Amino acid sequence: MADVRSTALPDTHSIPEAPPAPTHVAIRREDYRPPDWLVPEIRLDFDLDPDRTRVRATLMVERNGDHDRPLRLDGDDISPLKVQVDGADADYRLDGPQLVIELSGRQATVETEVEISPAANTKLMGLYASGGMLCTQCEAEGFRRITFFPDRPDVLSRYRVRMDGDSGAFPILLSNGNRVAKGEGPGGRHWAEWEDPYPKPCYLFALVAGDLKANRERFTTMSGRTVDLAIWVREADLPRTQHAMDSLKLAMAWDEEVYGREYDLDQFNIVAVSDFNMGAMENKSLNIFNSAYVLADQNTATDGDFDNIARVVAHEYFHNWSGDRVTCRDWFQLSLKEGFTVFRDQSFSADVGSAPVKRIEDVRVLRAAQFPEDAGPLAHPVRPDSYIEIGNFYTATVYNKGAEVIRMLATVLGPDKFRAGTDLYFARHDGEAATCDDFVKALEDGSGVDLTPFKIWYSQAGTPKIKARLDYDSGAKAATLHLEQHIDPTPGQPVKQPMPIPLKTAIVGEASGHEICPERLIVLDKASGAIRFDNVAEQPLLSINRGFSAPIVVEAARRPGELERLAQADSDPFARYEAIQELMMLSLVAGARGEQADPAPVIEAVAATLRSNSLDPALKGEAILLPSEALIADRLAVVDPDAIHASREALRHALGSSLASDLLAAHRSDGASGHDLSPKAKGIRRLRTVALGLIAAANEAEGAALAKAQFDRADNMTDRQGALGILVSLDAPQRQDALNTFYDRFHNDPLVLDKWFALQAAAQRADTVDQVLRLEKHSDFTIANPNRLRSIAGTFGANHWAFHSADGRGYRFLADMILAADKLNPQVAARLVPPFGRWRRFEPNRAALMRAELERIVASPGLSKDVFEQVSKSLA
Ligand SMILES: [Zn+2]
Repeated sequence: MADVRSTALPDTHSIPEAPPAPTHVAIRREDYRPPDWLVPEIRLDFDLDPDRTRVRATLMVERNGDHDRPLRLDGDDISPLKVQVDGADADYRLDGPQLVIELSGRQATVETEVEISPAANTKLMGLYASGGMLCTQCEAEGFRRITFFPDRPDVLSRYRVRMDGDSGAFPILLSNGNRVAKGEGPGGRHWAEWEDPYPKPCYLFALVAGDLKANRERFTTMSGRTVDLAIWVREADLPRTQHAMDSLKLAMAWDEEVYGREYDLDQFNIVAVSDFNMGAMENKSLNIFNSAYVLADQNTATDGDFDNIARVVAHEYFHNWSGDRVTCRDWFQLSLKEGFTVFRDQSFSADVGSAPVKRIEDVRVLRAAQFPEDAGPLAHPVRPDSYIEIGNFYTATVYNKGAEVIRMLATVLGPDKFRAGTDLYFARHDGEAATCDDFVKALEDGSGVDLTPFKIWYSQAGTPKIKARLDYDSGAKAATLHLEQHIDPTPGQPVKQPMPIPLKTAIVGEASGHEICPERLIVLDKASGAIRFDNVAEQPLLSINRGFSAPIVVEAARRPGELERLAQADSDPFARYEAIQELMMLSLVAGARGEQADPAPVIEAVAATLRSNSLDPALKGEAILLPSEALIADRLAVVDPDAIHASREALRHALGSSLASDLLAAHRSDGASGHDLSPKAKGIRRLRTVALGLIAAANEAEGAALAKAQFDRADNMTDRQGALGILVSLDAPQRQDALNTFYDRFHNDPLVLDKWFALQAAAQRADTVDQVLRLEKHSDFTIANPNRLRSIAGTFGANHWAFHSADGRGYRFLADMILAADKLNPQVAARLVPPFGRWRRFEPNRAALMRAELERIVASPGLSKDVFEQVSKSLA
């Protein structure tokens, strides 16, 4: 699956059933046992109806090994209408949600029948209704809401699926694999049968029934086979599917070239759905997508949206090998498919766009989402040891830190050996359910390199911190780099072991600005170490963790002026960006502590960046963007959000007033027509709005006028949304005008309306809490649609200053949203909890208010195990 940074619940007027009493039992990795029974084949028959769908399942089961344990089939919210074994009614019992059948022989044919109501399925797990269509989401444990089955990823089956439905409501019937038969039935119904030749776990099962139209194209694979590609949407959305189609073809070609992976079926289908818990799902040959990751044109989607669509389309496609052909043995191994596939999609985006900018964006996401996880009560290893609800482990740690682990392995091996390792991995485990250890073993065997020390990255949580100090001996013309690592305790792991940390490092001459010791890869694998550099003829500057070669925090002892010099001279784009960011951070942290913060070094670095002829506009835009308030908070022992906000605003004001003419020139830089999606054009648009933000910070009236002008003449959503994003934080009269204009034009387009809500929830204003309380009552707001819910609640939770409003109303608002959402869609509700997680680090008043809300949530009757797990761990 692809994660998403926002959440909501389906539009239903039915009252949801009370959830079953939560079991709240932790499942542990060490308890893994192979399945007692295998299901090599399954046949599914669906009589589709939004309110009452009949599901008949025929399982060919086989005893796995010599044991006398009964067949246990998982169910969730379903009850058996019929249970037969080998054609005769069978004795069975229900053990909690499980259906238990005693079987005597080694094999049997087990048939069950259930009735489910897709329209009443507000959890959006299993089979559910969305905007008149029916679709499925089975990862991680949704299949058990459709039929009784051993719902675990190491039970792989061949599927044959028959769907029968009303031909008017559901003219299109899709499932995995190839359609092998179809026909008309009585009473205006029709049917289709699909067969998937590749055995797969049930979490990859998919079904779609609806009135859909396809954008169709063809792709010829490297061995010359033709694949029919189709992107299915509502007819009105067809014109907005071309970017997704182009991205799919690029991704298919890229995976052939870079990993030697070819697509393996004759058809590949993508379906866009409006109500979806996650970003998208890699069901074998039938990917189901949140429509936000399919639909785009210049008028309605930003450059960021276009990039995200390419990224997510590629991600799900890449899963065909890293996820579908080789799947996970159990859910503790989730990073096996997700970490690797995120690494693959990051590499793809870097190759088809700007690699340095992509790296900066990836690191920003890691720092914003994963570092706080590692530092808080929800910290867990990339391969967790236990969970109550697996839905809570689709985290930045499993995904993004998991990708960083793969990146380190690739860095250490180099491209050829890494490719030899992945080739072996795919060959050795094709058609299997594998583990993270299997992956590392294949890399070792393919490359001939011992990677044992790196395995600790899968098992040990926490972000390593490296202290670095460079000593220079001018007489000996030698420099010595002293390194020391430390990892703070995390829940369940009080004592930490040293980890192998690959650091790309170079020495830059202070006077010459040249790389006097070329980049080399240092692997620190002990608690401390010293590395000597020779032939250092001038005062050296330390350029360390270049390209962010390890997912760590570097605390380098810097000489006065060192960061300023690196900010202009470092030849590694990422290290140069880091130097500017670190300069900003030092000033911001000083300001937040109430110390005198001299903005001059930051102003000078930003001025040099804006005036540079060698940096491209995208990199300039990234480099001059100030660190977020949440990142500043990470550097402080006691967090005072008002002080952080004031410090950041003061620096923005100083930059805006000192560099007014440079910023205006950057804002006015041209050469990016709205339809130009080249990295250069995207960079110009990015810089245009970032510069505008700083102008507005210094001069509200001028900023408002320029923003409104940008808004009015925008021929693309990037400029329009960028301008509105600045206006919403101002008190200028143009603010409401622009909001009204935007709403009037786009209120019938759900994805664009999500932006309208989100922009207001992200506003940097003293009254943002009042704004979101008003928005929540807006007639277009619904808690039932995940995207809409996330547009307000998810965005607001990430708005540091507003969420942490001193009166606690922000906390109360989000807690109320979590409780309301939990009654409909626990998975999505649980993803709103993390902003509360770090309450202990805040000043006492806020800490007490946050804790009180967590206690109020956990004391609420009927709480789901999803939310219970997140909240109880946050309180522990
Ligand atoms: Zn995924």
